[in-house]
Amino acid sequence: MYGSVKDEIGTTLQEIRDAGLFKDERRLTSPQSAHITTAKADALNFCANNYLGLADNPDVKAAAAAALDDWGFGMASVRFICGTQELHKQLESAISDFLGTDDTILYSSCFDANGGVFEVLLGADDVVISDELNHASLIDGIRLCKARRLRYKNADMADLRAQLESASDARRKLIVTDGVFSMDGYFAPLDEICDLADEFGAMVLVDDSHAVGFVGEGGRGTPEHFAVMDRVDILTGTLGKALGGASGGYVAAHQEIVDLLRQRSRPYLFSNAVAPTVAAGSIKAIELARTSDEGREALRRNAELFRTLMTEAGFELLPGTHAIIPVMFAGEDGARKAAAIADAMLEHGVYVIAFSFPVVPVGKARIRVQMSAAHSEDDVRRCVEAFTAARAQVG
Ligand SMILES: *Cc1c(COP(=O)(O)O)cnc(C)c1O
Repeated sequence: MYGSVKDEIGTTLQEIRDAGLFKDERRLTSPQSAHITTAKADALNFCANNYLGLADNPDVKAAAAAALDDWGFGMASVRFICGTQELHKQLESAISDFLGTDDTILYSSCFDANGGVFEVLLGADDVVISDELNHASLIDGIRLCKARRLRYKNADMADLRAQLESASDARRKLIVTDGVFSMDGYFAPLDEICDLADEFGAMVLVDDSHAVGFVGEGGRGTPEHFAVMDRVDILTGTLGKALGGASGGYVAAHQEIVDLLRQRSRPYLFSNAVAPTVAAGSIKAIELARTSDEGREALRRNAELFRTLMTEAGFELLPGTHAIIPVMFAGEDGARKAAAIADAMLEHGVYVIAFSFPVVPVGKARIRVQMSAAHSEDDVRRCVEAFTAARAQVG
């Protein structure tokens, strides 16, 4: 009996449209890359998480294609029944070696990794202290555990200290943060977080999805950037961004933690194993990220050039070095302006996305630009020209 539910849902959908929050999906008619095509037009893509340009890399594709022949299309099983191939163990070892952890456990996505990690490690006597801007999957994963939940203001170490002080009676304490906050491109101050963790006897979990593969000298992410690789207890991350961009996530951590997750973590126990092609492509992507600095250097060059040219052109950027570069449109009219400029830029063949409240705070509307190693210098210049032209059009 669908009955009145039809109208109720219709009303909700209309409310989403009226608030200007309805999300339409653009259909690509090409692989994911710096240059994409849609049914309507060709575009330069500045809004994918394809940081190292590996999503369409020939070596990654070849590895995936070879795995299709050697290992088949699907696993049709969870890992512990009969869904573990040599490939899955190789991928877990590759991640552990890269990140310097004892062991790694794979999930279908980082969303699942974050959904499966807290419940196993924390009970009612424990406390989890979470940055207010953490990713939705961390928030949901934390909701699934019985620990006391505390939040601290974004990257605010005084507030984190206050929360830790208020949690002194807890059995286990776990501080949880994104390595990079995706709307700002800001780093979590992991060195200070690890200091506080030591002082208060807490563990640290970092979700490094927007950093693994390209942040830090060797691409090992924010713990490498802050020189705290041996002080972060639990790393979660995705294979769906810089590391090939297909799908899959992981928890990389101390041996006992990974061992227990294999026994108890529900998204691992009750969801299908990662497909062989994805595992093999990801192994290749990690090898490429690990053995060459070329991609990271191209990415840094592009980000630097974009920041310089946009600043010269009079745009307001959030400061930083990350490949996420928010172009800000302040004030009451900011949300409308950002949306109008993003639309106009598409007409100039550049695809970027505007964000406004409630995704970001009121008055902090922005166009979030994401650099890729796959962009050429000319691509970056064309993006800046499109910004300038669109601003003139919109006024
Ligand atoms: C993208 C992202 C995820 C989700 O990763 P998937 O593998 O796509 O599920 C989780 N956490 C953070 C911080 C992310 O940026």
